[in-house]
Amino acid sequence: MKSLVFLEHHGGALEKGGLGVLGKAASLGDAAGVVLGEVAVAVAAGAGAFGASRVYASEAEALAAPLPQPRVDAMAGLVEQTGAEAVLFASSVLATDVAAGLAARLDAGLNWDLTDLAVQDGGLVGKRPALGDTVLVDVGWTSSPRLALVRSGALDPVESGGSAEVEEFEPAFSDFSTLATLVEQTTEAATGPSIEDADVIVAGGRGLGSPEAFALVEELAAALGGAVGATRAVVDAGWYPYATQVGQTGKTVSPRLYIACGISGAIQHKVGMQGSGTIVAINKDPNAPIFDFCDLGVVGDLHQIVPKLTELVRSRA
Ligand code: FAD
Repeated sequence: MKSLVFLEHHGGALEKGGLGVLGKAASLGDAAGVVLGEVAVAVAAGAGAFGASRVYASEAEALAAPLPQPRVDAMAGLVEQTGAEAVLFASSVLATDVAAGLAARLDAGLNWDLTDLAVQDGGLVGKRPALGDTVLVDVGWTSSPRLALVRSGALDPVESGGSAEVEEFEPAFSDFSTLATLVEQTTEAATGPSIEDADVIVAGGRGLGSPEAFALVEELAAALGGAVGATRAVVDAGWYPYATQVGQTGKTVSPRLYIACGISGAIQHKVGMQGSGTIVAINKDPNAPIFDFCDLGVVGDLHQIVPKLTELVRSRA
């Protein structure tokens, strides 16, 4: 299978989500990366180490702002030029817009929220959780190229040690594609790694009792060099930002260590973190569902346990 993989970059580095999709695409056939926007040419070569045989890069002025429509033009041109059978995206706000626009432009089918891809009987098959993530269904396409959006964090990048040839190209833009302009862009101040990239996540749930108690979770995360996650219950209550929500309607994460503090372990939370390396749960209820799937369970009051754990980690740093 010949595929194009849309790769986003930030701060001079390719994003982990796209590299995960690239690794999977490379395992299924010939995968080329596409990097668009400022400094695209400089970062493009990095995709070779994650499975790309070739990377198409463009720094055209119309691609400088993170707007979808010029990217739809660029991707549509590449599909025509390369004859790609599949165009794959790691889910993000921008990628979702580009994938939808490309599907409309090419009159092609788009499957979204996939957690895996496979080739069966010579055809691409997407794996998609359904019914509240309790079952995994196979989805296919009836037209070509096959467009797919993969759930964020579902596929880990795999270093192949290869190298890729970078081909710079100049997309042809439609007049209507360059009408939108970016008026303002602000960046949320972040401390520490994002939850998609973190090796360690300390997550807080309703068991914290108050938004102020998130300080306990933040301190433990900082001591471990990790990021803070949250359940939907606390996000809905306005205790913590939505960007940190882990689960079915939040993000899928797979850190090496996930420490769940005051989290019951509802199925909708579990599906977003069950791929973590080691799961530690701190909960005062010995019958909490999270104890059925964690690797290490601590029954007790998190207000006593978490500060002690933070102290211990700091003393060993
Ligand atoms: P609770 O279920 O209330 O659990 C709190 C836990 O804290 C309890 O187990 C309690 O024993 C423990 N506790 C209390 N006090 C202490 C203490 N002092 N020390 C230690 N432990 C204590 N949820 C998500 O997280 N992510 C999603 O993306 C998501 N998507 C959803 C989508 C749909 C369509 C639906 C219907 C629900 C979704 N939910 C999601 C909600 C999910 O069903 C749960 O309601 C939610 O995960 C519960 O959050 P919680 O564990 O923080 O709270």
